[in-house]
Amino acid sequence: MAKEKGKKLITKGRYELEFRGTACLNCGHILHLDDKYCPNCSQANSTKKLVLKDFLDEFFSNLINYDSKLLATLYAMVIKPGTITRDYINGKRIRYTNPFRFLLSLAFLYFLLVTYGNAFSNLDDLNLKDKIEKTSPVSFSINTTEDESQDSLQKPNVLQEVFKELDSVAEVEENGNLFVLDSLKHFINTKANEKRLADSLRRANPSHYFSELETDTGSSRFLDKMEFFWELIEKDSIKTFEDANTKYKVSSTFANRMAFNSTKSANRVVEQPGTWVNDTIAKLPFVIFFFLPLFTIFIYVAYIRKKYTYTDHLIFSFHNQSLLFILLILSWIIDFIFDWSTAGIFLILFSIYLFQAMRKFYGQGIFKTIVKYLFLNSVFTFLAIITLILLFAGSGFTY
Ligand SMILES: [Zn+2]
Repeated sequence: MAKEKGKKLITKGRYELEFRGTACLNCGHILHLDDKYCPNCSQANSTKKLVLKDFLDEFFSNLINYDSKLLATLYAMVIKPGTITRDYINGKRIRYTNPFRFLLSLAFLYFLLVTYGNAFSNLDDLNLKDKIEKTSPVSFSINTTEDESQDSLQKPNVLQEVFKELDSVAEVEENGNLFVLDSLKHFINTKANEKRLADSLRRANPSHYFSELETDTGSSRFLDKMEFFWELIEKDSIKTFEDANTKYKVSSTFANRMAFNSTKSANRVVEQPGTWVNDTIAKLPFVIFFFLPLFTIFIYVAYIRKKYTYTDHLIFSFHNQSLLFILLILSWIIDFIFDWSTAGIFLILFSIYLFQAMRKFYGQGIFKTIVKYLFLNSVFTFLAIITLILLFAGSGFTY
């Protein structure tokens, strides 16, 4: 086809016949005079020296070529659900952009928008840290002396209040039922004692407390270490594991480093939960590239009798995912300009689109498509929930 066209379209500038060579300047492939391009590497068959105009022409034609591909892809994708995938796997590829690259670009664009938007920043004002410290029975402090009264002056806790009450009652009933009150006090004391003991040990000699922890074989060892590190980070401006290593002789083992880094992450999460949620969501576009290949196995199973390969199904899910990103990006822009929240509407649009795409691409009847649609959506939701849990758990420990 290219040869026939080449004969008629004797063109201008560097494509003129007089500049045609007999061997490709790029790869050395033997060329005929009617080859406008090298059939091997597709470089233009021209021996003409580049002048600035040729150079710019080449640049702009590449750009326009890319643009027209992009527009063709967008148009086909939005207007004809499923058709673009069908075209692509049937070999009409040069007119569309590569599905993987297309999805990657959209994911990247979406990532930029979400990061820029930081829609969850209001969560940062939750003051989770204050809440955690208020619910914890004994206030944390390291490097202060074992002076309980000073501690209670700074942060009077409920227990201290109760004791004060009990003492005043005891004074009034000097000769009365002191025994009951005493045993009550004793009971409350024992309740708080275990925690108190651990805390005071930790305070009195942190290095020693930690080395004790190291020999402990209990299952809560990791959490105890994290609690220890939490105090270091909160109360002793320990910033890095090296600080903990030099100041508290925390040995540099893998487990210790992991406990420290997890604590550090958790600390940052608690400090700015909104930013964390946002940063984690911003990772989603890239998680997609692990998620979709997994999900595609289920599409493959649902349409096992179709003559499509796994890759065909994968391209189908790439195309649909791309459209979802396009809709989400549109929604983001509209919300940004008008201060609306249109994500729900766009998700409904997408579910209609997806159904149409499945109908067109797999060419099955409405009933069969509904069944498979419901099946695949259930699987998708299930996998997505697991992925989200793993993602958030993972990101909480590695933030
Ligand atoms: Zn060549």
